[in-house]
Amino acid sequence: MIAYGWADKWIEIDVDDIRWNLEQVRSCLQEGVRLIAVVKANAYGHGAQEVARILYQQGVDFFAVSYLKEALDLRRSGLRGSILLLTPLINEDQVLEAVENHLTLTITSLPEAEIVDKVTRLTRRMAAVHLKVDTGLGRFGMNLEQTLQCCELLKQNSHIYIEGIYTHMAEGAARSTRYTQNQFNQFMKVVNGLMERGYIFPIRHCANSAVLLNYPHMQLDAVRVGTLISGQHPAGKIRHRLELRDPYHFKCRIISVRHLPKGSYLGYNRTYRLKNPAQVAVLPVGYHDGLALAVDNPPSGLIDLLKILAKTVLRYFHFPRLQMKVAYKGHLYPVRGKVFMQMCLVEMPADLEVQVGDEVEVPIRKTLALGSVMRLYVREGKAGKMDNDEYVSYVIEEDFHE
Ligand SMILES: *Cc1c(COP(=O)(O)O)cnc(C)c1O
Repeated sequence: MIAYGWADKWIEIDVDDIRWNLEQVRSCLQEGVRLIAVVKANAYGHGAQEVARILYQQGVDFFAVSYLKEALDLRRSGLRGSILLLTPLINEDQVLEAVENHLTLTITSLPEAEIVDKVTRLTRRMAAVHLKVDTGLGRFGMNLEQTLQCCELLKQNSHIYIEGIYTHMAEGAARSTRYTQNQFNQFMKVVNGLMERGYIFPIRHCANSAVLLNYPHMQLDAVRVGTLISGQHPAGKIRHRLELRDPYHFKCRIISVRHLPKGSYLGYNRTYRLKNPAQVAVLPVGYHDGLALAVDNPPSGLIDLLKILAKTVLRYFHFPRLQMKVAYKGHLYPVRGKVFMQMCLVEMPADLEVQVGDEVEVPIRKTLALGSVMRLYVREGKAGKMDNDEYVSYVIEEDFHE
């Protein structure tokens, strides 16, 4: 039992599982290939500062996040090592803030290169940059000619170190390998074109989690991995799977439990009716906490569309396998009725011994759970916190478990 008696929900994150996943990823790396640990979006919900620290202690010295704010938060938490920004900076103030904090910049266009050029000249500060090539994702990046223009500008500035060049793959986990192979060929064409003109790039990179697993020959000088470290395989086709552990456990306490007769309706719009007498437990988590939320993307093809339709139909009939369930004392119990904004209802057998205050584990999508929910870092069944001042040691402050 957790000793924070006042907390009605929290997230337990297993430090050893993160370390385990890191070793699994490292076992795929060819000799000399660097790992850039992607800790964007609060390290996929696991807590960016803590995860970065756990990884740093294990020897990871290169991190990546999407936005300046994320990178500054990490730097200000005391994180050493390189931090690569995966998105461009759009004005001088941002660039100044970034170079003052020794962040590694991504340049995706000539105007951005001009800003970095200006700021580093004015302030005489060094900036390490990576150039971004678009090979078919359609998000950021340049073609060969534009990249060349950037290089020509930047080489005249001794404060700028062109450390790397990279691209991002659109479908590393797709069944067909053609598009990915084509993106890779395009990327190599740009890199080789620049190298022929005398430019050198110590770190060329293109692989995310899916590409690392499916295309070992695309590791180049570094890989950018997030999903695998957080214990999941990317959705889609993965040819070589790792043995990953899920470090993330969203838990809460039952805040009410009542016996209700057969035929009782549960929740708004009466979408569920008890088929038997049961106990109904109320949990203090709802869609505000990320429960029952899905990312609403258009279907990725006809098969995907049919799958979505079939699922919707089956869910309408409360098909048990598609039913959302919570874990209580080692067994799974279904969430019934519509999820409320901040609560949900769970059906449990009438004869089960259930108490208010008991712990339940809830399947909340990691990246959707609120950042404000307390995260407890657990080792060997004991919870603790990362120590903020001392960088190297993982400090277990208290024994939260009995
Ligand atoms: C998110 C992201 C990654 C990491 O992808 P995973 O599939 O989570 O490993 C790598 N590169 C870029 C540019 C990203 O945005």
